[in-house]
Formats: sequence, structure tokens, C-alpha cells
Amino acid sequence: MTDALRSRVIARIESERESLVALSLGLHGDPEVAFQEHRASERVASFLRERGFEVERPYGGLETAFRATAAGRGDGPTVAILAEYDALPDIGHACGHNLIAMIGAAAAVGVREVLGHLDGRVSAIGTPAEEGGGGKVALVRAGAFADVAAAMMVHPSSRTISGRTSLASNRVEVEFHGKAAHAAAQPDRGINALDGLIQTFNAVNAMRQQLRPDARVHGIITAGGSAANIIPEYAAGKFSVRARDRLYQQEVLRRFVACAEGAAAATGTTLKVNVNENSGYENMVPSTPLTDRWAEHMRALGVEVMQPVDDERMGSTDMGNVSQIVPAAHPYIAIAPDGTPGHSTAFRDAAGTPEAHANAIAAAKALALTAVDLLADPALLARARAEFEERQRSGLLRGR
Ligand SMILES: [Zn+2]
Ligand SMILES: [Zn+2]
Repeated sequence: MTDALRSRVIARIESERESLVALSLGLHGDPEVAFQEHRASERVASFLRERGFEVERPYGGLETAFRATAAGRGDGPTVAILAEYDALPDIGHACGHNLIAMIGAAAAVGVREVLGHLDGRVSAIGTPAEEGGGGKVALVRAGAFADVAAAMMVHPSSRTISGRTSLASNRVEVEFHGKAAHAAAQPDRGINALDGLIQTFNAVNAMRQQLRPDARVHGIITAGGSAANIIPEYAAGKFSVRARDRLYQQEVLRRFVACAEGAAAATGTTLKVNVNENSGYENMVPSTPLTDRWAEHMRALGVEVMQPVDDERMGSTDMGNVSQIVPAAHPYIAIAPDGTPGHSTAFRDAAGTPEAHANAIAAAKALALTAVDLLADPALLARARAEFEERQRSGLLRGR
């Protein structure tokens, strides 16, 4: 990229500083939870519409999703910049998604400024319900990323890192059916459904010793009988089954189901297992060329970027599903003191400070410059593509 283009991108974002902060604070002060982000998605979509983007809203079959597109001078790849804007129940923007939306809007406006010199398109895609609803899972299924060559977003954190993985995850419900009987007078006539569930927990606990350290299997009992003097005829539980990569997670899931089947055989109960596909968050596999380029731009802007540590704590994100079908970046920008836990009121308060907005605007500039590089330099996209295809061959990535 030429210095002239770089300067124009940065100056354009800088010129919007006040309106961007107002957009973010507007979201922060009016939190809406998963799939109910009607005002938030309209705020972000209008911001982009007013700045020359073509807006589709709703998008991909989701009421609170949108896609805002601007086209360059000729045919070329489409780079997607994603914006989340859902809040958490009760504690508002405690994951800082107001800043994700602002960074996405800022970066898209920055790229559009120089699109007249580039081949291709930029699309800002508003992706609702990251917190458990799986908005991106639904958008991936609806083909919303079918024409996208690369997808990127930045998430707030207490440390600035160019990328880290996340756990592949499924939520699973198990139900055991038995036969009720008087627990003292005729216990031999009953079939104890609760025993089926308890034996499942015991089998899972035995299995843990033979699992990789990154696997997580955790559950609760949601139905366990109605009275101590009745053999329970019905018992149910909910579990999460997670691991660092999708292949191993699927193996753990198979072994989990085998634990439940063994428990059913041992207790004479009948078993029903429901694997909830909508909450199937796949593991995030960041594209190295994209995350490295973002980090280079951050350092050139004077911001320190740390390397992820080996035993990084991680949850799950639906950006993982996007990263499984297209080269993707999901770096983190520090907006709170190191060690501030996510999903806390301290993190929510940090997501509204001037310091957080200053850091987020720097992250947006680096994101815009990375997107411009992708359109200006076909070799960068080719490297991201080659790494993706290699990982697909090795089974690390699913592909489209
Ligand atoms: Zn969160
Ligand atoms: Zn989040």
C-alpha cells in the first residue's frame, strides 16, 4: 500500500472520531440482548448508510443482522468486517460489543475512502447474538459468507493480542426414561431413570483421566425425580462438551454419548440424546497472514501487541464457525487493566471510557489498513488462502 493511501485511511477514521465515540456510547447506554438488538443494528446500519454504503437489513434471515457494502473500481475479492452489538442479560455491555460495532463501522468507512483505487468490495456485516445465540452460526448456514474472501473483527479484552484460538463446543441434552414404583415396597418393579443419569456423570468422571487437558465436559441435572419414595421414571441433564479443535471435540462428544449409552444399558433405562446444533460453536483458527498484518499495523501506530501465552484461558465464540469456512482474524484490543475479567461490571464500565475508545480507534485503523492490504495486494490473500487450504487438508479446518 502506498503512503498516500495509508494516510487517507487514517485521516478518514480520525475525522469521524466524535461520531464514532457517540455511536459506541449510544449502544453502551442502551444495551439489547441476543436477537433483540433492533435499535443497535439500526444505529450501526444508519451510520454506514449515511456514509455511502448500500445496506441490506434484515440480512441472512435474521431480523437484527445487516450487511453494508461499498464497491471499488473493478472486480475483486470481498473483504468482510464484522460487527457484534449484543449485550449480556442484566449487566449490559460487559463484553464490550459496543466497541466491536464501533471498530467495524470505523474500519469500513476507512476502507471505503480509498476504494476508488482498489478492485473488490468491503462489506460490514452486523452479526447479532454472539452471546449464546449463535448469530454467526445461523448466518454461515444461510450462506451469508458465500462470496466473502476473508472476514475480520476485533474484540475488546484486557490485553492486546493478535489472535488466539477458542474451544469447539456443543450443548447436549440427555434424557433417561425408566419406570416408577414405590421405592420401599416394590423397588424391584421399578427402573431408576436417575441412576442412568448419575452413572453418566460417573462414567464421564472416569473418562476425564483419559482425555486431553484441553477437553471440558461439564453438566447439570435438570430433572431428577419428584419424591424420595418414588423410583424416578424420568431424569434429564444438560452438558457442554468442548475441546481445542473440532475433530477432537467430536471424538469427546462420541465418547460422552457412549458414557450415557453404557449407563442406560447398565440401568435398563432408555436414553434420548439431543445434540443442539445451533449452539455448536466451532474452534477459532486465526489466519496467520491476517493477524500478523494487523499486528504490524498496530505496532506502526505505536501500540504494543503481545503474543498469546501457551496456557491461554479461553471460552468459545461463533467467530470460530466463520474461521472454519474462510480465512479469518479475531484479534483482541486492551480496553481495561490487565486481568479485568470479561462479563463483569468492571469490564462494562471500562467499555465506556475515553481510554477504551482511543485504543479501539487505533485497532480500527489497523483493521482498515489490513483490509486495504487484502484488496491492494493479491499475494497477501493468496498466502491466507494457501494456509487455509493446507489446514483443511490436515483436518484442522472444515472448509465450506
Ligand atoms: Zn462475551
Ligand atoms: Zn464478546
